[in-house]
Order: sequence, then structure tokens, then C-alpha cells
Amino acid sequence: MSYVDEVIDQVIAQNPTEKEFHQAVKEVLDSIRVVVDANEEQFRRDALLERLVNPERQFKFRVPWVDDNGQVHVNTGYRVQFNSAIGPYKGGIRLHPSVNIGIIKFLGFEQIFKNSLTGLPIGGGKGGSDFDPKGKSDREIMAFCQSFMTELCKYIGADTDVPAGDIGTGAREIGYMFGQYKRIRGLFEGTLTGKGLSYGGSLARTEATGYGLLYLTDAMLKRNGMDIKGKTVLVSGSGNVAIYATEKAQQLGAKVVTVSDSTGWVYDPDGIDVAALKEIKEVKRARLTEYKNYRPNSEYHEGRGVWTVKADIALPCATQNELNIDDAKALVANGITAVAEGANMPTTAEATEYLQENNVLFAPGKAANAGGVATSALEMSQNSERLSWSFEKVDSMLKDIMVNLFNNIDNAATKYGFEGNYVVGANIAGFEKVVDAMNAQGIV
Ligand code: NDP
Repeated sequence: MSYVDEVIDQVIAQNPTEKEFHQAVKEVLDSIRVVVDANEEQFRRDALLERLVNPERQFKFRVPWVDDNGQVHVNTGYRVQFNSAIGPYKGGIRLHPSVNIGIIKFLGFEQIFKNSLTGLPIGGGKGGSDFDPKGKSDREIMAFCQSFMTELCKYIGADTDVPAGDIGTGAREIGYMFGQYKRIRGLFEGTLTGKGLSYGGSLARTEATGYGLLYLTDAMLKRNGMDIKGKTVLVSGSGNVAIYATEKAQQLGAKVVTVSDSTGWVYDPDGIDVAALKEIKEVKRARLTEYKNYRPNSEYHEGRGVWTVKADIALPCATQNELNIDDAKALVANGITAVAEGANMPTTAEATEYLQENNVLFAPGKAANAGGVATSALEMSQNSERLSWSFEKVDSMLKDIMVNLFNNIDNAATKYGFEGNYVVGANIAGFEKVVDAMNAQGIV
């Protein structure tokens, strides 16, 4: 049996319930076979893959908090410090009832390669809790965030581990967590990113993941002789990534006709009204059913359905495994040209394969959504310098990072004989840098 298959089997046997983690490991290791096979003897001797798939450290902790009626609740908190070969651990905090250790490990594992691809000195980590922020008052959110940070603050710091936002963790939650960190540790330092502008946040961080997704998509289209201008785009989700992906797509001359949330989706034939979307989601924190009040011409549908609409480009920006094989078939039947992942692993393995077999350009999340963490790293630099850069400076650095990133994955794919396969290109390019750093640092 090949070394890659042995390690995949070990991961499944040692972590039997962690199906998302298996999926992520399998996807990465499958696509770096060509590099592993060429170095098999050395990698086996150094147990390189075993070290890569085992987190350096992981924490699981109790998070007790009191609701507005005086009732105590207990959630579970997690932080996985996966790999620090190229820098301090860096990765977001997810607050969603579906969170478990397998999901945090899949996200942390992906983060290693994503962070490597940015070209910036950041290692891979991820954290979260099964807490559900939906329907909670501000005071309840604060109570949870303070309790969560009371434990987490023992393990993080500006030069060790720097968490950020993710699903359910936005500016409000980061603010409460930062306040509690500072209070307990007595340190005003850049230990969280995605902070508010008045206390060390970076301009353009809010926009970065969505904007970066479009910079990379545009580069991918141009490389293949196309332009985003005039294209019709499907976006799923209506959170941070989806909103700013929609905004940048429209700025670049495309028309975004859908957005969704966990209960339904909107089709707006005239193009999504971003100002309305921001007001509904960022200000009112309401459901998408409200969108029709702003745009009477639009349609609201319960359930799933974004991928059934005819368009040129699909940008899944909600959550993992939201685009399955049936969705991929519908997209191909409707003549889709490109799929770029704003969310982490939103496309199932089967769907990815189907899209690639049908010559759809496919940009995997670890490359396409790396703009968020890249800008977080720029926030860390600004915090270290105690300076704030202009929006234009950060946005232009973000654009350069995404275009370089695309060129690197394109070149890596071509170098190993997989021209146009950006999944293989991203995994190999991310892997090579991490392996180089791991080898240089000895058996640790
Ligand atoms: P948000 O919480 O801001 O938004 C998430 C969106 O996805 C919401 O519209 C939400 O709907 C929807 N959603 C969440 N879970 C589900 C589900 N199980 N089924 C259907 N819809 C769902 O999160 P972000 O926009 O920050 O993150 C979206 C994705 O992008 C995630 O995969 C995240 O890991 C990834 N990502 C985020 C980065 C960032 O900078 N924020 C950076 C890189 C990746 P509802 O409101 O109804 O729950």
C-alpha cells in the first residue's frame, strides 16, 4: 500500500467519528501523491505525513454562561493548534451548533496550507464552540464570549496563536473576546484579528475574504482567456464572505443574482442590492425573507436552490458540503464556466471531481478564500508596528497577494503535469513550503 493510503487509513482508524477531517485529509493527501511518491523514503523515515495530520496540540474546555433568565448553560470550547512550522498558529473561531472536534480539525488542517499559500508567516489553527449565537441578546453573547475567552486566553497570544472570526463570530464577538483577553492578561496586543477600527483593527479586513475571492476568480478567468465583466454570478450565503463577494463582483462589472441563508434563498434578476443586504444582515440581523421589502421584483424561496439558476460563475460562500453532486450536475447542465469556493470545503469531493471532469474552472477554498487570513496577517503587522495603513494600501496588498497566489498554484499544477487543476496546484504549493520549514526545524 502507498504511504499516502496508509496515512489516510490511520487517520480514519484513529479518529473514527471525524468525517469532515477524513474528507479534508484525503483531499489534500490524494492530490500531493506525486510529491510524496518522489520523496517516499525520506518522508516515511521522518514520519512526515503522520506529523502533518496530527495537531501539535488541541484543547477542549467547558464554557459555562448565564442567560437573561438566570439559567446556566454549558457549551464546549475547542482550539486546535495544528502546525506552527511557518509562524504562530492562525485561524478563526466558529460559533455554530454543528461544531465538534472533527469540524475544527478539518478547518485547522485546511488552514495550514491556506496560510502557507498567502506567502505570509502564519501557521495553522482553528477554534470554536457549539454555542448558537442566533436569537441571543447582546448580553448573552457577551457572557458567552467572556467565559470562552477566560479559558482560551491561557493558550493564545500575539506571538503564539492569533484567532479571528468565522461563522457566528463577527466584529461584536471579537470585541467582547478581545476585551476579556486584555482584562485577564493585562496586555493590549494583537492577539485577535478582525478587531474594530478604534482598537487595532485593519481597514479592509471586513471586506477581505469576499474581495480576495473575486481578485482570485478574476485572475483565474483572465488566465483562461475570459473576463468577469458582464458575467452572471451565483452566490450562496449572506454572511461576511457572501456580502463582500457580491459587492466586489458587482464593482468588477458582474451581476450577482442569488444569495441564501440557512432557511432559504433569494433570486434577484436585476442583481442583488448590496446596500439592502447589508442592512438586513449586518444591521438588523434579520432573515432574507425581508429582502423582498426592498426589491419587489425579487423572489424568495424556502430551502435550497441557488445552484439551479443559470449563470456563468458560482461562488459558494456559506458552509461546508453545501454544493453536492446533484448541484454540480445542475450547474454543468446550465453551462457554468467557473466555481470558486468562498467558504471552506463547500463542494463535496464527488461534486468537485464532476466539475473538473466537465472542464469547469475550479478554485478551492484554501486558495480562493485566503484573502481573509492574509489580511489578518496584515492586521498583525500593523499591530506590531503600532500603525494603521490606509484602506487603499491594504486592498492593494490584498490584490497582489491573491494574484501571486493564483500564479503560484497555476505554476505548481503545471510543473507537476496537472495544468489547470488548481486543487492539485494549491495543495502542492501549500505543502511544499510547510514541508521545507518542517524539515529545517528537525523532528518536532
Ligand atoms: P457568517 O456567519 O458571516 O455567514 C455564514 C452564512 O452561511 C450565513 O448566511 C448562514 O446563514 C449560512 N450558513 C451557515 N451555516 C449554514 C448551514 N449549515 N446551512 C446553510 N447555510 C448556512 O460566516 P462567514 O461569511 O464568515 O463564513 C462563511 C464561510 O466562509 C465559512 O465556511 C467560513 O469558514 C469561510 N471563511 C470565512 C472567512 C472570513 O474571513 N469570515 C475567511 C475564510 C473562510 P444563517 O445566517 O441563516 O445561519
